[in-house]
Amino acid sequence: MRKRIRLICEVCLSRNYTAMKHAHEKERMSVKKYCNRCKKHTVHKESK
Ligand SMILES: [Zn+2]
Repeated sequence: MRKRIRLICEVCLSRNYTAMKHAHEKERMSVKKYCNRCKKHTVHKESK
């Protein structure tokens, strides 16, 4: 089972990416990705 998650920019909180992850993984994802709003790479966290 996989579920869809949203990755939110930690700085401006815009929802820039979606990702798939295994439902059994309980840890929140946190990845460095480019944010169009911040115009730079920021930490993106899984929402909810
Ligand atoms: Zn941002």
